[in-house]
Amino acid sequence: MKKIALLILLIFVILIGILFFNFFKISPNTDQQAPTLTDISSINGYKERIAKAITYPTVSFEDTSLIDYSIFLEFHQFLKNSYPIIFKNLEFETVNEYTVVLKWTGTDSQLRPGILMAHQDVVPVSEDTKDLWRFPPFGGIIHNDTLFGRGSIDNKANLLAQLESVNFLLQQNFKPQRDIYFVFGHDEEIGGKNGALAVAQLLKSRNIQAEFVLDEGGYVSVGLVPGVSKSVALVGTAEKGFLNLELSVNIDGGHSSMPNKENAINMLSAAITDLSNQPFQPSISPSVSSFMQHIAPYSSFINRLALSNLWLFKPLIYNIYSQSAPSDAMIRTTMVPTIINGGEKDNVIPNIASANINYRINLGTTIQDVIDHTSKAINNPLVHIKKKSEGQEASGISPYNTTSFQNIASSVSSHFENSITAPFLMIAGTDSKHFDIVTKNIYKFSPLTNPSGFHGVNEYLNLKDYKNTIGFYVDFIKKQ
Ligand SMILES: [Zn+2]
Repeated sequence: MKKIALLILLIFVILIGILFFNFFKISPNTDQQAPTLTDISSINGYKERIAKAITYPTVSFEDTSLIDYSIFLEFHQFLKNSYPIIFKNLEFETVNEYTVVLKWTGTDSQLRPGILMAHQDVVPVSEDTKDLWRFPPFGGIIHNDTLFGRGSIDNKANLLAQLESVNFLLQQNFKPQRDIYFVFGHDEEIGGKNGALAVAQLLKSRNIQAEFVLDEGGYVSVGLVPGVSKSVALVGTAEKGFLNLELSVNIDGGHSSMPNKENAINMLSAAITDLSNQPFQPSISPSVSSFMQHIAPYSSFINRLALSNLWLFKPLIYNIYSQSAPSDAMIRTTMVPTIINGGEKDNVIPNIASANINYRINLGTTIQDVIDHTSKAINNPLVHIKKKSEGQEASGISPYNTTSFQNIASSVSSHFENSITAPFLMIAGTDSKHFDIVTKNIYKFSPLTNPSGFHGVNEYLNLKDYKNTIGFYVDFIKKQ
């Protein structure tokens, strides 16, 4: 008996030892470069320029026949008028007429070039929300140092801030060592095939391999990462995939006065319910586990203990993460019905009913896995499952132990107070996914603090924060 008690005590001591060994093993990321802080107080007129940029409704519509492309050309002219020094010093090129590529030649073109990206296009303002805006969405109105308007954060802040920083650096006679490309797509909101993808293919055809790509993505989150008091700059190093599947049922409904037991609508409803009741298994992808490792040293005691001992606490973490939609999306493939159709007349049973299911595919899961999961969960040969488009596989994972990532981290700590930088899994798609043929180092980060209103009503940009956005790009580019 005494022996068993001793054995239990020994196991307990070893367990505690392992937990605390891991607890202390995860230490703050200290191999950051020394922060540099450039004084950019001499930059004037930047608020007026971004406000003016909003007045160009460079709207992308899924139905491309609705797009007014002449506005993109007017927007290019506005950029040329606003930043004449840039257009005198950098090579300007357009791809498929509307996507802009600027090349800043460095002092050593043997080095692999860097690529900074942003997109010109914005999502539409839907008719039914027009009246909910405090200010006209394309008015470019500044109120209390806040710029209201569609595209103010997504994504003209990044685009204009990059140009502000180049403009400033050219005035200082700065020249980067490596060549730097700026790629401003015109169709990001509808997939980026004619813009970013075409540019990536063009660069590849010119045998260009880039050192890094820095595109829109995560942001500086303040008070949003549970248990971490510091601000966390979330730098996307991977991106979930997506897929739309159509479920359809086509069976004879009979007459509504004497209905059969089965009909298209209730069979489709049952299929959707079965699917919802069988979510994908959670998993911590390498992208999410590196996020956890980066925030663990700054987390509260209990969180740090759990995050540094995933081998033991994984079930607990799955439990916690699955309780809120944003964190649940980080640990599994999500699925949700987004469109449903069936029936036309109140006394006729329709023969056909269909629904669209939208999936966001976790790393380590493929489009084929999603199709297999769906058909297994529904398990009914009368429910037809069809891909609505090609979809997009989840991306690869960019490494965070690179100089480029460290340059992002040190530029963040210069311009965003009390902040740390962590790799992160992007739940939404960006143009940079097309650049995996040009580099493995793709980083998705918008230097903005808690931006809100993406694609929504009253999208706004805090102009005090926007100055940090410019400062971030100035210091990031100075490291090239
Ligand atoms: Zn965007």
